[in-house]
Amino acid sequence: MTDAKIRLYVEQALSEGQSVPLTREAAHYLFGVMRRGVGDGVLLFDGQNGEWLAEVVEAGKRGGTLEVRRQTKPQQMPPDLWLVFAPIKKARTDFIVEKAAEMGAAKILPVQSEYTNSERIRQDRLQAHAVEAAEQCGGTYVPEVRELTKLSALLDHWPAERQLMFCDEAMVGQASVLHSAAQAGAPWAILIGPEGGFSEAERKRLHALPFAHPVSLGPRILRADTAAVAAMALWQTAMGDWG
Ligand code: SAM
Repeated sequence: MTDAKIRLYVEQALSEGQSVPLTREAAHYLFGVMRRGVGDGVLLFDGQNGEWLAEVVEAGKRGGTLEVRRQTKPQQMPPDLWLVFAPIKKARTDFIVEKAAEMGAAKILPVQSEYTNSERIRQDRLQAHAVEAAEQCGGTYVPEVRELTKLSALLDHWPAERQLMFCDEAMVGQASVLHSAAQAGAPWAILIGPEGGFSEAERKRLHALPFAHPVSLGPRILRADTAAVAAMALWQTAMGDWG
């Protein structure tokens, strides 16, 4: 079998000896774009059962079949961290989803806050970005991207044990630390606001929540996409699966 540098996410649960039919898109990518053919190796993961080496046994223009040979990586789940963010412009929202998947978010929740401009998102497109990011970064897990919900509704039904790193631009200039020691091991979420930031009513509500930890991301106001990456790096350094 020749080299297996291509990684593909498949929905089918994987195990040794299995036959995996390819979708039309996957066949086009593998055989049309990447010029792979019968006998070539491909790495597969399903988000639950690690990574597997598979061999192309049938290659066609509209389809094909792979056969799973052996496991190459065990499943690695990310820490239980949600990224909650208000969608911004399309390309920057795509960037946030891609980076969240690379940096180890377990779930991605777009929310509509008072100053969020977009009222709709293409959840399927964002989910595809998360899949692509997982394929490229060597991860074995794909975070679920939820449909857009109202921030207020999400907070109404918030699971009490989940801690919230509330990235509040109004905290700039105030010393704030992530109290990691007390909450390490708990499920967490990071909240990033839209371009317009949080309204005073939202800020007041968030500051009063017992599970919310308001934090500053430094002395400068970051764009929401930069803030999402910076916040995930800080959280991962303090409590995540890095290092
Ligand atoms: N329009 C707001 C203002 O001028 O104050 C800025 C909003 S900022 C572009 C978007 C989001 O990124 C904020 O709601 C917050 O969640 C996060 N953010 C950006 N810079 C931050 C900082 N220095 N500290 C905490 N959060 C920050």
